[in-house]
Amino acid sequence: MLTKVIEQTKIDHFSKWLARAEKFVIVSHVSPDGDAIGSSLGLYHFLISQEKNVNVIVPNAFPDFLRWMPGSKEVLLYDRYKEFADKLIAEADVICCLDFNTLKRIGAMEAAVSASSARKLMVDHHLQPEDCCGITMSYPQISSTSELIFRLICRLGFFSDITKEGAECIYAGMMTDTGGFTYNSNNREIYFIIAELLSKGIDKDDIYRKVYNTYSESRLRLLGHVLSHMKVYADYNAALITLTKKEQEQFAYVKGDSEGFVNIPLSIKKVCFTCFLREDTEMPMIKISLRSVGSFPCNRLAAEFFNGGGHLNASGGEFYGTMEEAEKVFEQALEKYKPLLLGNS
Ligand code: 5GP
Ligand code: MN
Repeated sequence: MLTKVIEQTKIDHFSKWLARAEKFVIVSHVSPDGDAIGSSLGLYHFLISQEKNVNVIVPNAFPDFLRWMPGSKEVLLYDRYKEFADKLIAEADVICCLDFNTLKRIGAMEAAVSASSARKLMVDHHLQPEDCCGITMSYPQISSTSELIFRLICRLGFFSDITKEGAECIYAGMMTDTGGFTYNSNNREIYFIIAELLSKGIDKDDIYRKVYNTYSESRLRLLGHVLSHMKVYADYNAALITLTKKEQEQFAYVKGDSEGFVNIPLSIKKVCFTCFLREDTEMPMIKISLRSVGSFPCNRLAAEFFNGGGHLNASGGEFYGTMEEAEKVFEQALEKYKPLLLGNS
């Protein structure tokens, strides 16, 4: 049995929307990750089983290693089909906002979603949800939004309507947001849910291979290059990797190629905090990804130094300036957080 994470009043409230609404739009955040696409398609398959009209819209493209997911071909990219997407958003009865806590995270879609008169539901696990939805299901203690979608469907009384396809998407989201169940994954209920998903006929080993073992040769070579000039700050239990625009060109970088790189230096003994700085190809900006193990608060550091935020162990932000300047700021941050970094090892 699962703990009732979502409050009954919220389940009852959404149940009423579900009974009455016809047109559903599901939206998720910029640069959608496995949990964004997994939770969106998990909910998509469920709503289709209830004979609803459903569209999934995300701001921009998602990585190739998520394209095997059943339904992924139906996902509409806002940056390519803005006009059509705007119409769907405006005419929706219900908009489900998944895996983000503020409308800022959906980028260019924000205006259309805010302006729509649709009822709005947020299902998310990031801290400090914005008050922008009629129903907010926000539970930072849960490691993925996909897990919350499973819990939501079950609490609505529709476990039996979860299909194998829906179960595959939910599993993929749970798996990717926990690094293959290697972090944020000590809640035993996760494994109860996996058992339930297996009962739907999913092949979890195959899903793992489809997500993690489908590197292109250029991605693996890029990883080799990035690691070859990694900086390890042994006195701070930290490591830094960087990727410039020039290097991206050199290695025929495609979006998503560096996904997961930030976690790799954590496999060095004693390193409990890593940073990945990547020059954006579209904007004059450096994207920051931070990861930690233990109690080191990446999100605090991200907010203080990189105008960002996120989870305790996985956060991010942005930096406007050169790579050298970003590295300097990172080193200042290390100095400031040194006591916490050393206390954490
Ligand atoms: P990633 O490193 O995978 O891009 O991001 C990890 C987590 O950090 C995300 O799930 C999100 O919670 C948070 N995050 C990433 N970028 C930003 C950002 O620019 N601002 C804020 N507030 N959070 C971010
Ligand atoms: Mn997530």
